[in-house]
Amino acid sequence: MSSHRRSVRPLAFSLAGACAAALLAVQPAAAFQTGADIPTVRQTLGYDSGQEITRAADVRRYFEALRAAAPDRMAMGDYATTWEGRPLFWAAVGSPANIARLDQIKADARALADPRRTSPQQAAALIADQPVLVWMAYSVHGNEISPADAAMQAARRLLTDPTAQAWLANTVVVFVPTQNPDGRERFLNSFASGRGSLPNPDPASAERDEPWPSGRYNHYLFDLNRDWFIQTQPETQGHAALVRDWRPQVVVDSHEMGSDETFFFPPEAEPLNPWIWPRTLENRALFGRNTGARFDAAGLPYFNRKVYDAFYPGYGDGWPGYLGAVSMTYEAGSARGLAARRSSGEVFTYADTVRAHLTATLATIETASRNHDRLLNDFYAYHRDGVAGRGAYVLSRASDPAAADRLAGLLVRSGIEVGVARQAFACAGQHRAGDYVVNLAQPQRRMAEVLLTRDVPIPPAFLAEQERRRARGLGDEIYDVTAWSLPLMFGVDATRCDSAPGVAVEARGPELVTPAAVQNAEARYGFLVAPGSAQPRFLAAALQAGLTVNSADQPFTQNGRDWPAGTLVLPKAGAPADLIATLNRLAADTGAEVTGVDESWVERGAGFGSSDVVRLRAPRIALAWDSPAAPDAAGATRWMLERDLGYPVTPIRTANFGDADLAHYQVLILPEGRDYASVLGEAGVKALHDWVSRGGTLISLGTATRLLTDPDSDMLASRRETGALDKDEDKPAAPARIANQTDYAALLAHSDHGPDSVAGVLARAHVDPDHWIGAGLPETLNVLVRGADIYAPLKRGEGVNAVRFEGSDTLLASGQLWAENQAQLGYKPVVMVETLGSGQLIAFTQDPTVRGYLEGLKPLFANAVFKGPAHVSPRW
Ligand SMILES: [Zn+2]
Repeated sequence: MSSHRRSVRPLAFSLAGACAAALLAVQPAAAFQTGADIPTVRQTLGYDSGQEITRAADVRRYFEALRAAAPDRMAMGDYATTWEGRPLFWAAVGSPANIARLDQIKADARALADPRRTSPQQAAALIADQPVLVWMAYSVHGNEISPADAAMQAARRLLTDPTAQAWLANTVVVFVPTQNPDGRERFLNSFASGRGSLPNPDPASAERDEPWPSGRYNHYLFDLNRDWFIQTQPETQGHAALVRDWRPQVVVDSHEMGSDETFFFPPEAEPLNPWIWPRTLENRALFGRNTGARFDAAGLPYFNRKVYDAFYPGYGDGWPGYLGAVSMTYEAGSARGLAARRSSGEVFTYADTVRAHLTATLATIETASRNHDRLLNDFYAYHRDGVAGRGAYVLSRASDPAAADRLAGLLVRSGIEVGVARQAFACAGQHRAGDYVVNLAQPQRRMAEVLLTRDVPIPPAFLAEQERRRARGLGDEIYDVTAWSLPLMFGVDATRCDSAPGVAVEARGPELVTPAAVQNAEARYGFLVAPGSAQPRFLAAALQAGLTVNSADQPFTQNGRDWPAGTLVLPKAGAPADLIATLNRLAADTGAEVTGVDESWVERGAGFGSSDVVRLRAPRIALAWDSPAAPDAAGATRWMLERDLGYPVTPIRTANFGDADLAHYQVLILPEGRDYASVLGEAGVKALHDWVSRGGTLISLGTATRLLTDPDSDMLASRRETGALDKDEDKPAAPARIANQTDYAALLAHSDHGPDSVAGVLARAHVDPDHWIGAGLPETLNVLVRGADIYAPLKRGEGVNAVRFEGSDTLLASGQLWAENQAQLGYKPVVMVETLGSGQLIAFTQDPTVRGYLEGLKPLFANAVFKGPAHVSPRW
């Protein structure tokens, strides 16, 4: 790009250069404008577009200025507010006639998306009158800066350039210019405080070298481009609801990548998710072809079919595709500031990257306009293909109703129709009234399949290539997790039936919690709450409300009813006067069943006054924050405690652990992160060690467990394994003569060769029912396995392997796992608990808080945090 930097190129879409208008059967451009009355970026913000990186609030200010200048051709609205209080907005640009009837256009798009109520004849009539909806979303990663500035230029172009205006005869463009303003402002604050007198292209210069956690993430450090189907964050929740309301036919998510790269647009790299509608892939290629032509005309380099695959459905170009849109990712090599130097020495500017994204945006709108009929007909056909589906999924409420309820609500938030069975029914087994039925003869069939199916296989040819690469010591090309089956992640039993059950159903709404109420509120002794996914939220709230909460480590039978280990016991004695009101509020908020009992007498098992029933106290929790914690992991752990469970936590910068008064805390969490030892330093590690010895509960997540097992810190008896079952301690020196290819390959193998890294699979783990940390959990949990860390089990006398992987032949639940990892993972620990002095270590070898989306592991994590401190006797 830099070689073109100083040359004055004709703009790709100048009046003279573009011939698209001639190809369009458009209405005469009655609303032709020269643009003199449409403000420029300079007129509104004081600089030429591309000369500064526009602040999030100023992006909005500019769009408001455009709308004020052309109110008949623009509409704007807010769709959510970020954690830091910034409004998230959309801006539609279209012809005056279309802007005046946006509600009708949205309704008609939704009608096209439901062929059960829209016949082909009706659809044809709608399409003749319906603009194609093009959804242009930008800068979801806050340090991917140029897309938002390109959106500003593109919107102005649509209002001023006659060629672009002509496209609006049959097209409405909806801009979502800043999907992550909190992250953008974090980037801009570090950029602004680091910049000097001239833009500095050196990647090491402070202005371009972002401090932890970087601007990529939102406030809670979520990667919003992984969150689309789980919708944990306000940015994604709002955006997903907006897309469901508008139902666009084309969706583009515009990003940036490393400064050495050029520009990417589809066709994507393999693997392609087999649930993507084949016609969608053809249409992505159609857009790619035209964008390529526009890039060639502008002299801009680009690539396709590499790096960016189409397998994981939680991307901004994944999820909307299962709602029938032609959804695409665009990526520009980032200046990460106002100028950047490539490794080759070339320098390019921020304005260059803005221009590249502008070119891609305009090419997209042009292609949509030229293919209006095709895109709308395909959109209708996508949903006809859906309703032609057969079979159903049944989601059971039997084992964990709260988890099933949450899952059902989330499916509805992805546009899937979910029914609640009115009575018991059969469908590949017996099911109860209240179970959820997802009939696959529905418009969003592919969305339902891709989220509910147990396993989505990677195409064999792609896999064979990955094995070839691995054999040669090249990394694999899998971009993200290969398993996301929601029933597995939620611990909900799902049954696939070949034909839909005939049972009558009631439509399920998008709510995530079914409110409960206290049963037997007049009870004399107190109240019991069984384990399950509602319990952690109830427990966190009950502790904060100051209620007396005990937890049974063993099961018991009372008044003829069996209660599992992990049941909470809340006695009435000494409780505040408003106990019942508080319990009713908590039951309504969390869905937890709260049952009153008249006496503490048990017929069998844990007596309420025995040592099997422990008193839980509200712990003060500290969380390691800042490097070396992975930002998204630290953020997800914090979000899960603060927002998902609703419990406060103190983040402490890791480097300051040595100085902090840790005695104030009962629980300390090290989120996933490598090399804590070097950031903590000797003093920090010693402070941690001393704090645990005096009675603290130290919880390590994922790669943070390396610190505990490191021979230098020597806190946990387990060690991280290297050498995939390969015990050769002494490598022989290279022989003088290498006899054959096999010997040659063996010689080249890495010296401390561990297993290859795994992008992410769901693996089955077995819970020790006798240990308090697993109390009340299902016997089998599904754990997301990522990376290559595998640990040796603790021996008896050292500690307890409270959760361990199943044997290698049964452990894989879903996803692509390399054979040697599968062999080595069998029976290895997932959670180890070991006493250290008066305290304890709880080591998770895989992160249970990842992306906040493993609903089935939340009770396990909550047990560690809230029940852990009840199982030590501190000496503070
Ligand atoms: Zn990105």
